[in-house]
Amino acid sequence: MITVKDKTFVPFLEPTTLNARITELAYELNHDYHDKTPLFIVVLKGAFLFAAELFKHVTIPCEITFVRLASYQSMESSGRIKQIIGLEEPIEGRHVVIVEDIVDTGLTMAQLVRQLKEKGAESVEVATLLHKPEAMREPVVTRYVGFEIENRFVVGFGLDYDEQGRNLDAVYILAD
Ligand code: 5GP
Repeated sequence: MITVKDKTFVPFLEPTTLNARITELAYELNHDYHDKTPLFIVVLKGAFLFAAELFKHVTIPCEITFVRLASYQSMESSGRIKQIIGLEEPIEGRHVVIVEDIVDTGLTMAQLVRQLKEKGAESVEVATLLHKPEAMREPVVTRYVGFEIENRFVVGFGLDYDEQGRNLDAVYILAD
């Protein structure tokens, strides 16, 4: 058991389990993109440790870039649109793979995929460490999923609770 700020968490995915599965995902990517020189877009902050482990095992020619998503209130629509910050690479004609920590409702990923397609990407796929199928509100195709998990709050391995806990080397789940 560990405490992050005012909450207690219990171990959920151990480092060896995480790293073994992430290695498998890298092999899948090596196979699927061997002739495509993909552009990997890592979504900060949460995906930084997943990305670091993944790219140790990605051996094909590729480019890696990092973005952050900022929420702002759209003038036209009622929904919150997420703006992509830090994307300098041209997207047109590229095979893009988004590297994300967790897909929860799917709203963030669906928007990001849409925006990258609008910028002219040839293909856009999602590689996420964690996926909560029960929380899904907007369907988004997540081609590469590390672990499907139940709809409970997790922390560690890049994921934060109120900005803390990102440095934990395992994924922990909120205790009951
Ligand atoms: P979505 O738009 O899919 O609902 O939101 C995805 C984002 O919500 C993730 O990138 C992550 O920042 C945050 N998130 C969703 N579930 C969790 C969770 O269980 N733990 C943490 N730390 N963040 C989460």
